[in-house]
Amino acid sequence: MGMEERSQALYRRWRPQRFAEVVGQELVARALRNAVAIGRVSHAYLLCGPRGTGKTSLGRLIAKAVNCPSPQDGEPCNACPSCREYLAGSAPDLVEIDAASNRGIDEIRRLRDRVALAPMGGRYKVYLIDEVHMLTQEAHNALLKTLEEPPPHVIFVLATTEPHRLPSTVVSRCQRYDLRRIPVEAAVERLALICEQERFALSVESLRDIARAAAGSLRDAINLLEQVVAYYGPSPTVDQVREALGLSLSGRGKELARAIAQRDLAGALKAIAAARDDGLEMRRLGGEVVETLRQILLVQAGAADLAGLTPEEKQEIEALAALMSPELVMAAMKAFASAQLQGRDDPFSPLPLELAVAQVLGPPSPPKASSQGPSPQEEKVSGAPTSVEAPALTLAEELVRACQQFNLALAGHLRHVTVKALEGETLVLSCPFPNLAQILERPDHRELLERAAARILGHHVSIRCEVEALSSAPTPKGYLVEEALRHGAIPLSTKNRGGEGDVTEGT
Ligand SMILES: [Zn+2]
Repeated sequence: MGMEERSQALYRRWRPQRFAEVVGQELVARALRNAVAIGRVSHAYLLCGPRGTGKTSLGRLIAKAVNCPSPQDGEPCNACPSCREYLAGSAPDLVEIDAASNRGIDEIRRLRDRVALAPMGGRYKVYLIDEVHMLTQEAHNALLKTLEEPPPHVIFVLATTEPHRLPSTVVSRCQRYDLRRIPVEAAVERLALICEQERFALSVESLRDIARAAAGSLRDAINLLEQVVAYYGPSPTVDQVREALGLSLSGRGKELARAIAQRDLAGALKAIAAARDDGLEMRRLGGEVVETLRQILLVQAGAADLAGLTPEEKQEIEALAALMSPELVMAAMKAFASAQLQGRDDPFSPLPLELAVAQVLGPPSPPKASSQGPSPQEEKVSGAPTSVEAPALTLAEELVRACQQFNLALAGHLRHVTVKALEGETLVLSCPFPNLAQILERPDHRELLERAAARILGHHVSIRCEVEALSSAPTPKGYLVEEALRHGAIPLSTKNRGGEGDVTEGT
């Protein structure tokens, strides 16, 4: 490989050189290859599709294949002098016109004069007009005249991202193919091949992050890969790739969406606070939540295919979708969409997101103890020998993490649970649904839970589950206490309840 090729952008070097190499457009590529193979090539093609999906690559392949004197089953041989000219990017019979910068009638008139000329070397002169919808009305009319009586040695390939902006008279003269967005897995496969050949060492996880960030454009995906490698060298870590892609908040956005799905007000507010502490832009965080909710909605509507998810993501989103009523999804989307509007002036302010969360999940219940005395629920909690408030959140999280090592499904169930109290050697878990308590109390699950809890607390505990309606779960209060503590307050309730064996002392 010479220096010149080295200096080419990665995506240019990795343009498909055979129809079989075209990623994600198998049907279109096969149809075009067959047309070449049986000698039934059309005089005008219209290739429609989002950017980076292979329109110009296919156009060039058509030009190369029809001019190859010894095509193999419709594929260009890539060895003859003609093919080599195409490989070198210097084929005289391929004329590429960017309609975005050459919109006018003069350009098309010049084109009309030129199409009369015979091809230089090959059988066909191919005119590849990119972004053809950008032509002016006049230019379209001129183009139409040429399309109506094309000289036998001319092939037009019109490419567009916006076919609806083309005059129907032009569309009807063409053989139309619609290209789809490149599926994530297909892009990952291509990136993996490129990495192997270029001796880049990226994990599949990173390739997937890149493919997803490219949103169906293979060109963007390959360009992102090139940028990441240029910046971090040939073996970047997963975190480096995520940082380069600006994905570092992805975990927080998911965390927030998960908390909403679980109706966990404290968890949602904590995710926002943590993202703010990370210095993340709140509007981007909100945008990610909206996107996740959208995916949940698509899954619930039975249109998961439209969400563009990997199998793992699909599983994750399906789990969230199962937790949420469509009404909750809609309410959350509405609240977060309006938070996005409110966040325009100050994209770093967490307030719009906090309000959205409060609107969807309900505000924390106001402290009643001072004016009305303790409610029955509060009495129950404070009457416990040891109550765990703010640290309970941490303990619950640690429990989830510890269980993940043994049993992922169990860890998933645990996310719905709050740690209510540690009464001597009994850890009291609050479950929002009766069937959840049943699952946790299964002997094998109970054993795992007790083992995990012992590991965290440093002594044996037995687990007891209590079923409590969501509204009376102590979580919202936990958040208030935690937030107050964060600001240096010493709440009365903590003073009253603090005592020996309090888990705070153990951590
Ligand atoms: Zn050839």
